Amino acid sequence: MTTTNPEFYCPHSENCYECCLETEMPLSEKDITRISKLGFKIDEFLEEQDGFMVLRNIDSKCFFLKNGLCIIYENRPEGCRYYPLIYDLEKDEFVIDNLCMHYQDFNPSIYQPLHDPIRYFIYMLLSEKEIRFRKTEEEKKKIKD
Ligand code: SF4
Ligand code: SF4
Repeated sequence: MTTTNPEFYCPHSENCYECCLETEMPLSEKDITRISKLGFKIDEFLEEQDGFMVLRNIDSKCFFLKNGLCIIYENRPEGCRYYPLIYDLEKDEFVIDNLCMHYQDFNPSIYQPLHDPIRYFIYMLLSEKEIRFRKTEEEKKKIKD
């Protein structure tokens, strides 16, 4: 099963996987469900970071990176499908992440059709983070009471 959102294909991905090292890629609930259905345990591939659920690294590499390849490529997280396009909330537009090895090769203007899907994705992550926070607070309150 794959998402139906438009995807960005990095032209360097056959010989570069820098963005799969020391990753902090946040996953949506939809990503987590899709990847769990492949048989991976949530605790194996995810960890919590500042309220977001992010990919876990093993020996500084994404849990899913094996021999330089993403073993869940067809089902990879939505954020991985957009990278190096990331959303700048202050500017309210996407930008090319300058941590990408070849960021200067990318011309943001040609990726405009991805603007709305990326924006939607980021706001969904923020909303899911807020829901998780509220649930945790409610659970803490129940334990206190
Ligand atoms: S899930 Fe795949 S594409 Fe995303 S960081 Fe991990 S190895 Fe890279
Ligand atoms: S670091 Fe940049 S150039 Fe390398 S695979 Fe990731 S997006 Fe492509």
